[in-house]
Amino acid sequence: MIESTLEWDVRIPEKKIEEKYWLNLKKRVIESGLCSHCSTCSLICPVDGIISEDREIDFPDWEERCVDCSVCVRVCPRWDYNPLSDIGDYIELVAGKSRRFRGQDGAMVTEFMASALEMGLIDRTLFVGRDEEWRTEVYHIRSVEQLFDIKLTGTKYSFANVLPEIKRAMRTSEKGIGIVGTPCMVSGIRKLQKEFSIFRKKIRLVCGLFCTENFYHHQLYAFLKEKGVDFSKLIKTDITRGKFIATMTDSEISFPVKELNSIVPHGCEVCIDFTAVESDFSVGSVGSDPGYSTVVVRTEVAKDVLEYIKQNGHVDFGKVIIEVVEKLSNLKKKRTKNIPEEYRKHMKE
Ligand SMILES: Cc1cc2nc3c(=O)[nH]c(=O)nc-3n(C[C@H](O)[C@H](O)[C@H](O)COP(=O)(O)OP(=O)(O)OC[C@H]3O[C@@H](n4cnc5c(N)ncnc54)[C@H](O)[C@@H]3O)c2cc1C
Repeated sequence: MIESTLEWDVRIPEKKIEEKYWLNLKKRVIESGLCSHCSTCSLICPVDGIISEDREIDFPDWEERCVDCSVCVRVCPRWDYNPLSDIGDYIELVAGKSRRFRGQDGAMVTEFMASALEMGLIDRTLFVGRDEEWRTEVYHIRSVEQLFDIKLTGTKYSFANVLPEIKRAMRTSEKGIGIVGTPCMVSGIRKLQKEFSIFRKKIRLVCGLFCTENFYHHQLYAFLKEKGVDFSKLIKTDITRGKFIATMTDSEISFPVKELNSIVPHGCEVCIDFTAVESDFSVGSVGSDPGYSTVVVRTEVAKDVLEYIKQNGHVDFGKVIIEVVEKLSNLKKKRTKNIPEEYRKHMKE
């Protein structure tokens, strides 16, 4: 008799309403304003029906196409929301500036992913580039040389379809994939990995970006246009010390970030995870000097990459002021009041 190697360990979530699972997700997560636009549901939908574009997540023809399989609900980090916060566990905290790449701050995200490629830990990583109007575009990086393109590094303050691209990257990757994302995307990846062993096997390194909020491109674009930003000359956008700064080739426009409050998506207003506590390593700008990135190394795999970087002298190291990271983390925790009561029960005191 041939022994089966299939795993039959599937937990089918309880439906909240007697409708297809997609409608459950739509009502409980999207229409309630909890959806973070992480796009994990869009990645996993077996009929590719869930659309993740520059608007609310949707499944337009769900009545005909949804096969009611439950996977969208199983991987959604906001279905049974477990709000995470603070700095989380870590092995090492460093401030760094890459000697070979240019990025948003110290290009440490790029340095880590480039090093992971060189080490053979991964053979693919997904980076977010942009078009002329700063719409996000996802790129499959297979070689270190590609990372010298400064349109691929740096921060774009708009949702990016990184997770749906994982499926394509997995088809061609042999060694594994490195993913960079905001805290909600990292939580989506961990849910995927919990539910499906193929993602545990293929996703080898997860970088979480510090994050206060993200935006829909069309809303941020209209706002910045109104402020006088010329996108044909725009080279960098940054949120620092309470200001949004748009740097163009010949000028700079800055204004208090508070002015963007009316376009902060609902899903960000219920998020209190500033540092992406579930990542292998997190990177942000606060906590270190200008031109450096703050790096929170959390797992052994990320620690190995940091050792490689140190051995090869790829980085100048600086000092981290942890109190600044804590301050920003605590500031984001004020959003706890926006989280529905039923989910606050999960939270640590
Ligand atoms: C929406 C958003 C909000 C942020 N808010 C804060 C904050 O409040 N405080 C803070 O300290 N830091 C914040 N950051 C992180 C910060 O802007 C830098 O990304 C971080 O310091 C890393 O800099 P670096 O030079 O090491 O990265 P680089 O080496 O320049 O690499 C940047 C990486 O970010 C990825 N990326 C860019 N845009 C996106 C996007 N929209 N979605 C997913 N991945 C993307 C790129 O693919 C690349 O991998 C935010 C980042 C984002 C995307």
